[in-house]
Amino acid sequence: SAAPVTVLGLGMMGAALAAALLRAGHPVTVWNRSSAKSGPLVAQGALPAATAADAVAAAPLVVVCLLTNDAVQEVLDGLGTTVAGKTVVNLTNGTPAQARELSALTAERGARYLDGGIMAVPQMIAGPDAYVLYSGDHRAYETHRATLAAFGGTTWTGTDPGRAALHDLALLTGMYGMLLGVLQAFALVRTEHISAEEFSDLLVPWVGAMLAGAPEMGRAVDTGRHLTDVSSLAVNQAAFPNFTAAFRDQGVSSELFEPFQAILDRAVEEGNSADGLSRLADLLTLGR
Ligand code: NDP
Repeated sequence: SAAPVTVLGLGMMGAALAAALLRAGHPVTVWNRSSAKSGPLVAQGALPAATAADAVAAAPLVVVCLLTNDAVQEVLDGLGTTVAGKTVVNLTNGTPAQARELSALTAERGARYLDGGIMAVPQMIAGPDAYVLYSGDHRAYETHRATLAAFGGTTWTGTDPGRAALHDLALLTGMYGMLLGVLQAFALVRTEHISAEEFSDLLVPWVGAMLAGAPEMGRAVDTGRHLTDVSSLAVNQAAFPNFTAAFRDQGVSSELFEPFQAILDRAVEEGNSADGLSRLADLLTLGR
């Protein structure tokens, strides 16, 4: 029969993780700070634990998904010695440094540590597009990989516990950059009563086509060869005041785009006019 699993934290994501484990046939023990959130999971077959320590005692694998790593640390601090011999899989969003710190802390208490970054919203968990990035104790990963597959794909990023968080934050960085641009575009078109939803018909293929150039830009970043025959920084810098001017004329804030103008200006001032946008990755790398 399937291995027992404990889930600490039943927010939107933790509840989805626990439900996926139940659907995969695992006995699941659940704990949440405010106990009312256990109700729906218990109705699906989970066992409620009165304390986090009781929950941890119930299974060799402990999945943690709280709001922040400060909360994770607080809960781990209250566990005493129950965590010894367990594997802790922390799927809480955090930084590489926090993951390394929590890894050291759990090791001190005799537990194995895996950090994870969930590349999905709760509704996507266990679906075809969901996956989780993992890093840390490789043996623990191999031992529990089949169980963790209940959430979706499993992607190994390395034995440094901070690697999953680094990948997770980098992927989300790309997402936020793209979505903030999309929202700025919506703000601009609706000043002329153009439907943002209808404008998406033009926007989605355009952004998609531009994104398809990412591997080539990535190669320029990797090799340091930024000379371009596509679109130079000089051309981009010359066009950019048109954006801020149009935002002003149309009554749209340019607070998101002003930093972009500043880095284009700096790139050209520092002699990179003939390079492509890929050069900006160098300018953004401090102490290079
Ligand atoms: P929710 O706000 O729905 O849930 C937060 C959970 O954290 C609750 O169970 C809450 O308990 C618990 N919590 C907060 N502070 C403490 C504390 N000090 N001690 C104990 N428990 C605490 O958030 P989500 O479930 O959406 O997100 C959880 C994590 O998953 C976050 O790190 C998030 O970034 C990450 N994530 C979320 C995604 C999403 O789409 N939702 C996508 C990918 C990652 P209580 O109920 O008692 O308040």
